[in-house]
Amino acid sequence: MRVLVLVMVCVALPAASLRYWVEPCSQPASGCHAADPELAQWAIEAWQAASGGQLRFEKTADREKAHIRILWTGGREGLYGEARPIMVEGVRGAEVYVLPAPDQAGEKDALLRDAIVYLTCLHETGHALGLPHTARFADIMYSFQYGGDISEYFGRYRRQLASRADIRKHSGMSVEDRRKLVELYK
Ligand SMILES: [Zn+2]
Repeated sequence: MRVLVLVMVCVALPAASLRYWVEPCSQPASGCHAADPELAQWAIEAWQAASGGQLRFEKTADREKAHIRILWTGGREGLYGEARPIMVEGVRGAEVYVLPAPDQAGEKDALLRDAIVYLTCLHETGHALGLPHTARFADIMYSFQYGGDISEYFGRYRRQLASRADIRKHSGMSVEDRRKLVELYK
């Protein structure tokens, strides 16, 4: 297992209404699949649901107007992804880079691959919303820098899924993740 390097950024967004943009899978060389933008959207929707009405996300087709921009990369922005702070019309946002081909996980288990991409979108957009890392293995904001079994981290989520559509039924967040988000935007 390669060493995971996740860059932690703390980007507090004062606005409760945010626009997001998801890059289409236009560069398959990155390993992205045509349906991956849907996984990113589900991650955004999961945060909105967890916010208890405090956050509203609006999808935009205009990248420049989006506070949160989710991009697919075949680069080395950490092993799974990275969030980089940006300013959008005076409001802090983030560009989120997601590696859609993490390790070799997807070669034998397509659902595990989708689960990892979804959870990575969730983790990195969590940073975009201002959530820092935690040391609790149960949290989506957990950092592998604290050790822990990375295969089990993704595997426990994967075991909840019988189909790709089940990803929408299982947010992947802990009670603490939700509490932290609500605390941030109350
Ligand atoms: Zn992180």
